[in-house]
Amino acid sequence: MNLTEHFTLDELTISQEAARFELDNSPGEPQIDALRTLCVKVLEPLRAHVKRPIIVSSGYRAKNVNARIGGAPSSQHCKGEAVDFIIPGMSTANVVALIRALDLPFDQVIDEFSRWVHVSHSEDGQQRGEVLLALHRDGAVRYRKVV
Ligand SMILES: [Zn+2]
Repeated sequence: MNLTEHFTLDELTISQEAARFELDNSPGEPQIDALRTLCVKVLEPLRAHVKRPIIVSSGYRAKNVNARIGGAPSSQHCKGEAVDFIIPGMSTANVVALIRALDLPFDQVIDEFSRWVHVSHSEDGQQRGEVLLALHRDGAVRYRKVV
């Protein structure tokens, strides 16, 4: 099932962890709606600009899948409001800069350890427009607010 022209429900619900532990990672209607909004408002415009594929590593996560990988209990991934991805050939810093330059309506963008980018779009209410950098410091994960 296609959510939008270039994004399928399958790729937005992919989870190696769910597959490994035979967990159900199927979203309900509200989560599917949120994923579609995220594609329409953020991923499709971004893809249209860079003219190359966006590779999703994690979109929707069922609560037990999210807990197993150590995600925050309040993670927007559980609502279908967040996606982790890379764009081959682009640094995460450049992807974050581009999302900001295009003025896309994001709630939160996180450059995660210079390895992948997390972006969210809130279904209800205001987008915070918050930009964070995730770093490892002294064996712990730290988030530095950029904007
Ligand atoms: Zn994420």
